Amino acid sequence: MLASVRSAALIGIDAYDVIVEVDAAPGLPQWTIVGLAAGAVKESRDRVGAALLNSGFEVPPRRITVNLAPADVRKEGSAFDLPIAVGILVATGQLEAGALLDRMFVGELGLDGRLRAMRGALSVARHALRQKVAALVLPGGNVPEASRASALVLSAPENLNELVRQLRDGMLQPAAGRSESLRPSGDDTDFVDVVGQQAAKRALEVAAAGGHNVLLIGPPGAGKTMLARRMPTILPALSEEEALEVIAIHSVAGVLDHTTLGTGIRPFRAPHHTISSAGLIGGGPLPRPGEVSLAHQGVLFLDEMLEFPRHVLDGLRQPMEDARVVIARALHAVSYPARFTLIGASNPCPCGLTGDGHHGCNCAPGDIERYRARLSAPLADRIDMHVVVGAVALNELSGKSTGDTSATIRARVEVARIQQRRRFAKFKGISCNAFANGRWLDSHTPVSREARTLLQNAAERLRLSARGYHRVLKVARTIADLAEVTEIGVQHIGEALRYRPATRSHDVEIRAS
Ligand SMILES: [Zn+2]
Repeated sequence: MLASVRSAALIGIDAYDVIVEVDAAPGLPQWTIVGLAAGAVKESRDRVGAALLNSGFEVPPRRITVNLAPADVRKEGSAFDLPIAVGILVATGQLEAGALLDRMFVGELGLDGRLRAMRGALSVARHALRQKVAALVLPGGNVPEASRASALVLSAPENLNELVRQLRDGMLQPAAGRSESLRPSGDDTDFVDVVGQQAAKRALEVAAAGGHNVLLIGPPGAGKTMLARRMPTILPALSEEEALEVIAIHSVAGVLDHTTLGTGIRPFRAPHHTISSAGLIGGGPLPRPGEVSLAHQGVLFLDEMLEFPRHVLDGLRQPMEDARVVIARALHAVSYPARFTLIGASNPCPCGLTGDGHHGCNCAPGDIERYRARLSAPLADRIDMHVVVGAVALNELSGKSTGDTSATIRARVEVARIQQRRRFAKFKGISCNAFANGRWLDSHTPVSREARTLLQNAAERLRLSARGYHRVLKVARTIADLAEVTEIGVQHIGEALRYRPATRSHDVEIRAS
């Protein structure tokens, strides 16, 4: 007979309905699976066959045909093991078809019949909730994330045997431990640990408040990494909707960290400069989210930014522009969200000692020029703030930090964010100054006469492009928001001008001294 089991598959981070049809007909014993990606067919057949036999069920010698509809989309992954196994049990008369009514099944099977965790469970759960299924049957390891779709009934039997027993009894056990693993992480990094560096801390506060991309420039050992790592501690907590998006992306990528799941702390990703383009942006034969998507709603930190191959760095331009990554495939395009704050760190020159008062730099001007040019102009254009991080003086190092705690800084950041949310309320997807249209902001934000004059004079003197001009204005807007001031004043423009990108090789040297 023909069995039909509800399941789901993923495109990007969205799930869609898949119906697993199983037919067991008399004939030569053989399995055909239609609708799975080629490589997955044999593996699935072997796993499901072994799981059924090892769980004490029969696999009668029939001609078994499995169709994963819609068949024209090649599905990858092992999450169809469970629906295929259940379908075979119905098709071979070992389980009543009525037991499956309105229920959705996903999960990989171990050879012993155990249910094993899958990628993308939250996406499937949210889809199941929208489709109003009576229950989602899934592996126990996926319950903590799937239970974020809170109104959905989940069932997570240990193995195939337990599931079939419950289905035969007509009573699915609701999954236990729905939220046990949603504990805050023990991460206790704090800005108060950073000695000195008041100017850099201030710059990161501005960046956090306005969502601005930052390049930290300074010699090795100045504490650039230490500063960047503390950025998530001053960013506002994720909203529930943002958190769901972040969990869904990390789950699809198979890197979900259960200890940070419920905390609302924004992601911080720090890929090494040897990363491939596909690793950073996303892609591969089976498309996966890249680091830019794993950093969605959080921070992408590129240490030694100029050591990344230029073509890899230039791949950042499109996601930075569109806040998402689109990976084209033969049959369909996969898209992943990628709205992140970029923090780059770089030495000022190849030897790293430019601007360091204690040591001399022997780099030739041409070498410095070539080094800086690794950051292409279009990418540099998308970095609102360039911040010089000097070496900490010895007498400062021995002293205790006198700076604010992360909680105090975050409170100020949140105030600034509230003003921005109000300002951009009618623009979908824009929550802070960094993402605003420069021209719109220019005509919709009050600027004092003196501040306007200062900005215009600076623009002329520094030959700022329109983009450069708007960049200064956006940063000044954020600085005024932090001060809870409606009108941008001279001091706000003045500070914003200090963060303007260095365009000539000796700029950093001059500003650092
Ligand atoms: Zn040097």
